[in-house]
Amino acid sequence: MATIQFLGAAGTVTGSKHLLTAGDTRLLVDCGLFQGAKIWRERNWEPLPVPTEAIQSVVLTHAHLDHTGYLPRLARDGYRGAIYGSAGTVELCGILLPDSGRLQEEDAAFHQRHPGTSSHSPALPLYTEADARQALALMRAVERETPFAPAPGITARLHRAGHILGSCMVELLLGGGEARRLLFTGDIGRLHGSGLDGGPAAVADVDYLVMESTYGDREHPEVDIRPQLAATLGAALARGGVVVIPAFAVERTEKLLFLLKHLIEEGKIPRVPVHIDSPMAIEGMEVFLRHADEFDADTRTLLARYGSPHRWPELHFDRTTEESKALNAAPGPMIILTSSGMATGGRVLHHLAQRLPDARNLVVFVGYQSPGTLGQQLRDGHRPIWIHHAQVAVQAQIAAFEQFSDHADKTELLTWLRGFSRPPRATYLVHGDPDSAQALREELRAALGWRVEVAAWREEVSLD
Ligand SMILES: [Zn+2]
Repeated sequence: MATIQFLGAAGTVTGSKHLLTAGDTRLLVDCGLFQGAKIWRERNWEPLPVPTEAIQSVVLTHAHLDHTGYLPRLARDGYRGAIYGSAGTVELCGILLPDSGRLQEEDAAFHQRHPGTSSHSPALPLYTEADARQALALMRAVERETPFAPAPGITARLHRAGHILGSCMVELLLGGGEARRLLFTGDIGRLHGSGLDGGPAAVADVDYLVMESTYGDREHPEVDIRPQLAATLGAALARGGVVVIPAFAVERTEKLLFLLKHLIEEGKIPRVPVHIDSPMAIEGMEVFLRHADEFDADTRTLLARYGSPHRWPELHFDRTTEESKALNAAPGPMIILTSSGMATGGRVLHHLAQRLPDARNLVVFVGYQSPGTLGQQLRDGHRPIWIHHAQVAVQAQIAAFEQFSDHADKTELLTWLRGFSRPPRATYLVHGDPDSAQALREELRAALGWRVEVAAWREEVSLD
């Protein structure tokens, strides 16, 4: 009998990791890092319930660290099987995972220099950049819609998910006496207007569905973001302020950049220096340009009109730490795009520490802020704010635009599910905060009459 055990993204939006057991075969769908509040991050340190060598295969939905960021640890613990994902996913992991390893090493070094700041003594990195390179060596790019065999008796196919570049849903067909078709959605993109070409692929017929529920209790506002964004940025720049935009380095930064360029060229905001202060975003730009065919007509038009950002005069790429630190002394008006998107680490922290105390400045959040992250605290007005163990006064204006979401909202999820030809035997909701997952469960049961459950951490369900 086959089972799925939810090893992450249950009760939270991070740590996506689902273990399929079918006979002697064990396969992971996604292998993400827990992020955000300490109670979640500490789970990164708990061993998996099965020995690493018992896992034959990993299949990835997409490159975001909350779906891939535990891979280097798996490799460090001895995993030597294949890791499958789309070409875009593999390329983006090539940027994200080594950077994550470097951050882990830097954090551990910081805690070693400041004893008492970590619950671990001595503070050790969860994994290193070298571990990340080991994991990358195991990656295999597979084409969408082309069947492959990640483990004996299992046929897999990737379907477009419309969430970020390269993102896919993972379909697994289990052979044997009675075949079972499973679908793991990973993160599901907007049905329209995400910037990617086409929304999530239509799926008709599955026996078991494991679905995300990030926005299970919310709808995205259907308004053109540009006038409001231009007004907010324009006011801050007019008062000589520095605009800090924490953004996910892969894709979000690139899309925002084209939007800012558009606003500048249309005269909607002044032509000020724009800094990309994220080596990852600079590398991500190359992947973004290489995969331009994945984007929708609007985005391709912007790419064609404005060309490679490398040639934009107002754009500055800050590759080195010295260049990044030099920005601290630079006066406004200017715009700094930096990562991470939820301000959980990276260069954004020193920009926030530097810019938050000045009322002329503006911090703009453009994505989901997980509870417990610095981004969520800032956005929701929690004070005081602590950065690098120092209290920081918040005088700067804080703005948040949820319209940039790369996740389908409640109505979009429901619309996508209505395309199914029959109800799955069971639907398990993952990747949502508890209120959101529970609200979506009620909604789906009422609207569709399906059997829907909210997955619990480490719960194992049987596919009978
Ligand atoms: Zn994602």
